[in-house]
Amino acid sequence: MDYGIIGQIAKARRYAEERHRVRFHAFKVSLAGDNHMHIITYSETSGWHCTSDFFRAHGWSSHTIALERILQGMIAPTPPTESKELGAQSAIISQIEKAKKYASEPKRVRFHSFTASFSGDNHTHTVRYEEGKWECTCNFYKSHGWCSHIIAMERILGVMVAPAERAAEPR
Ligand SMILES: [Zn+2]
Repeated sequence: MDYGIIGQIAKARRYAEERHRVRFHAFKVSLAGDNHMHIITYSETSGWHCTSDFFRAHGWSSHTIALERILQGMIAPTPPTESKELGAQSAIISQIEKAKKYASEPKRVRFHSFTASFSGDNHTHTVRYEEGKWECTCNFYKSHGWCSHIIAMERILGVMVAPAERAAEPR
């Protein structure tokens, strides 16, 4: 048995319980709302964007709030947004109610791409995901095509991502 591989899998389990190791730099997801599908993008430099009308008017939406909840601890906290336009109080309350519901239903969310740093025990690596294709900057990934960081991210993100293909994985 390859102890390197066993070690990677044990690490991945532990890492998956330690979300603070992950820091998203950018991502693109789709979120199936009750009525429409929306595309939400985030980047540390340019912040949030969402295709919903509510977002256009307010700079936030049920979709961005839901993702902030789902990814809590893995994205930089967003400063409170000043609405560009004062909406009806009832519309705001309804967005927040929706956000709570969406956040509890991660199957509505699908990641198309992301870039994240992953702080391992010794080094920080960059994990990239693009429509089901995974990549990591660590040495184990270079020789095996998978690694503890990718497995940990798969566990953390669950139904929101497509699992990596692991040709080199032990059977
Ligand atoms: Zn890795």
